[in-house]
Amino acid sequence: MPQRLTRELIHKLPKVELHCHLDGSVRVETILELARERKVRLPANDVEGLRAVLVQDNAANLVEYLKAFDVTLSVMQDYDALKRIAYELIADAAAENVVYIEVRYAPILHQRNGMRLTAIVDAVLDGLRQGEQDFGVKWGLIICAMRMSEPKYSLQMAELCVMYKHRGVVGFDLAGAEANYPASRHKEAFELTLKNNVNVTIHAGEAYGPESISQALHDCGAHRIGHAVRLKEDGDLLNYCCDHRIPLEINLTSNLQTGAVKDLRFHPLRMYYDFGLRCCICTDNRLMSGTTVTDELYKAHTELGFTLEEIKDMIVYGLKSTFQHHKEKVELLHRVLKELKDIHSDGSELVTGAAIADIPTEQFTKSHA
Ligand SMILES: [Zn+2]
Repeated sequence: MPQRLTRELIHKLPKVELHCHLDGSVRVETILELARERKVRLPANDVEGLRAVLVQDNAANLVEYLKAFDVTLSVMQDYDALKRIAYELIADAAAENVVYIEVRYAPILHQRNGMRLTAIVDAVLDGLRQGEQDFGVKWGLIICAMRMSEPKYSLQMAELCVMYKHRGVVGFDLAGAEANYPASRHKEAFELTLKNNVNVTIHAGEAYGPESISQALHDCGAHRIGHAVRLKEDGDLLNYCCDHRIPLEINLTSNLQTGAVKDLRFHPLRMYYDFGLRCCICTDNRLMSGTTVTDELYKAHTELGFTLEEIKDMIVYGLKSTFQHHKEKVELLHRVLKELKDIHSDGSELVTGAAIADIPTEQFTKSHA
């Protein structure tokens, strides 16, 4: 029986977050304030009432789960709101010791009041930059195209991504309802990102089978996969992902809420990790899923028996899978490895400093792969 860990210990670990939607990770208090200022009607007008509407514990499926985003999007249609929400997300990440976060959103969903796409991206970049200045969390921005939208709009999102490639945007994603909306519809957008060497991650294998993951990897050039719950149905593809070290962005609570898994104790994460797949733990949506990276790692411990060393391993997997430039990635990885080494399952911490020798990655049994 592995040693029981406390949530406090997991909170203390330096962490990484690669799959976090901006419009799914807004503070409830901020929604209320922004709505009041902008005279936007909400389904509830107090913190508890609104939280109850937005946290999707009882969603019937992914499409139901996604409906809550109408509420957050209703107050995310101007520069100040977008900048503030991006800034607060960095503050929230810092508060739980996330040292690096990749934030994603779909600029196309923020045009209701006629805001220009470039301004929509600038607002979020400004908020993230200011957040980094104030809280020290490093970040990258991922632009999402939506599966359900017309391909001409996803091409526009890809163009935006190319334009902002060296200005804070680190990747391109395809999000939204997966069933009935294959990634291949957006071929032109992916041709553009491939031609421009843009990093790509795609939501796949969440509400559709492994064919969707195969398409993401082989037709769209995905470097990472979001969710991949149904990868277990295709052994050949699973081995391909393992052999090619394709990072899987795992979101436990969200998977339970959308019905992608029926019971967390049977989430494929345990088998994926044991098999050697590169799994990293993310939140998906801090608000809609009512969670944090700390909570998700704690659930991996309580529901799936992950030990402290295994949790550290997944943090390292995450750091190895960021869309940062290699040099920055290695620097951050070394810094975090030193910090992780000094946090023990009894909660004690050693004093870090010059006495700490360079930590070889091999210390963690699996993550050097
Ligand atoms: Zn997602």
